Amino acid sequence: MSAAISTPETLVDYDDALARYEPVLGLEVHVELNTASKMFCGCSTTFGGEPNTHVCPTCLGLPGSLPVVNHAAVESAIRMGLALNCDIAAWGRFARKNYFYPDMPKDYQISQYDEPLCVNGWLDVTVADPAGGEPQVVRVGIERVHMEEDTGKLTHAGGATGRIHGADYSLVDYNRAGVPLIEIVTKPVTGTGALAPEVAKAYVTELRELMRALGVSDVRMEQGSLRCDANVSIAPPGAPEWGTRTETKNVNSLRSVERAVRFEIRRQAAVLDAGGTITLETRHFHEDNGTTTPGRSKETAEDYRYFPDPDLVPVAPDLAWIDRLRATMPEPPGERRERLRAAWGLSEFDMSSVVNAGALDLVVATIDAGADQSGARKWWLGELAREANERGVALADLSVTPADVAEVEALVTAGQLNDKLARQVFAGLLAGEGSAAEVIAARGLEVVSDEGVLVQAVDEVIAANPDVAQKIRDGKAAAAGALIGQVMKATKGKADAGRVRELILERLSS
Ligand SMILES: [Zn+2]
Repeated sequence: MSAAISTPETLVDYDDALARYEPVLGLEVHVELNTASKMFCGCSTTFGGEPNTHVCPTCLGLPGSLPVVNHAAVESAIRMGLALNCDIAAWGRFARKNYFYPDMPKDYQISQYDEPLCVNGWLDVTVADPAGGEPQVVRVGIERVHMEEDTGKLTHAGGATGRIHGADYSLVDYNRAGVPLIEIVTKPVTGTGALAPEVAKAYVTELRELMRALGVSDVRMEQGSLRCDANVSIAPPGAPEWGTRTETKNVNSLRSVERAVRFEIRRQAAVLDAGGTITLETRHFHEDNGTTTPGRSKETAEDYRYFPDPDLVPVAPDLAWIDRLRATMPEPPGERRERLRAAWGLSEFDMSSVVNAGALDLVVATIDAGADQSGARKWWLGELAREANERGVALADLSVTPADVAEVEALVTAGQLNDKLARQVFAGLLAGEGSAAEVIAARGLEVVSDEGVLVQAVDEVIAANPDVAQKIRDGKAAAAGALIGQVMKATKGKADAGRVRELILERLSS
């Protein structure tokens, strides 16, 4: 195969690629657990912090230090396994995965190799039908769930790209070294056809929801606490063997998972169409242009010289412990979504808008605080989603609480605020001007409740617009919109538009 064949420019149209090849996926998701301390020592796992301040002899791999397994991390791993319908192993050992890289001070990573904690599970994911039919449920098999420790973080300085090539020097921060990780590996996902990229995205989305429900990780992809390696291969339909796979590493957004899989299918199809062969290799995904480029040739398990870690006792969860953990399992996110969707009377589409905006828990909490579901959804998916988007933060990270939203919505329902004024209240809340009541008082945001003032404004507008007024007298109530707009303008947006409309129609009724 010539190098030119695998350049990003050579791509086959996606539909053409799918007409000739069947994709097979394999997804490996790494999740950082939210335990207070690291996997094998007592150091803090807090994100950020001055480099190399959350370190000790154990996570720096200094001679004589000994690791001790974090009980809470094992519990989280077992709960993950249970949520993924896995068998929990009665006995499992940690292994040393040997490789030499500066982000790993011991020159081996403690992981699990042939004795993972959880095996043989599944997760159902729902994928929208591109043709607009009923959504499809795809069952993704889970091969294994195992525990390991994270590596440190390298920063390559002085180059243009931030990559090691062209860098003047590299810095290493071991704060992350030893943070507990769970790796979840799927069985090969076959038979998805053209839906493969959407299935990959839906799977990672569902895993994220599951881990959020379990409370085992803060699952922030942008901070790297959830990252996905996407294995993709393609082969002609009915071929005796699957194609050679590539592994696109550390894809760190849901959309990127979908794009990376789609790109690899198109790229591999171009290579095979040209008579080339796919190289077994890792690849990097580039967020900016949605392409992948070759990384290193892929190691096999033999390259790592795994052997059981002699410093660690095996993990042997007894049945009583597993049963206790089973009792802590939350309602599965898929079932919860369906229950709420039915209770709220929403379409699949409206419900997925709530979920995709990361607003589900916020909407539930806003309803718990007294709002109705449509009012709660309106603000979280409208004004507040816009504000979050503008600030580049998650909805849940805005300084507006579900209780605030319920309070504002109640004032709107009572006619004390209109939508325009409500948006100003939210602006005040986001600017840290105090509670909703304080913002309303300080900014003077109450609607005009003095009926006399409203009637006067309505009469003035009617007098100034005799043509429109006549249309309304003739029964064209829709024409009232133009007058309502002028009254709102005259009252500086502080009138209740519903009441203004009533007044206009009242005074023009023949
Ligand atoms: Zn440590």
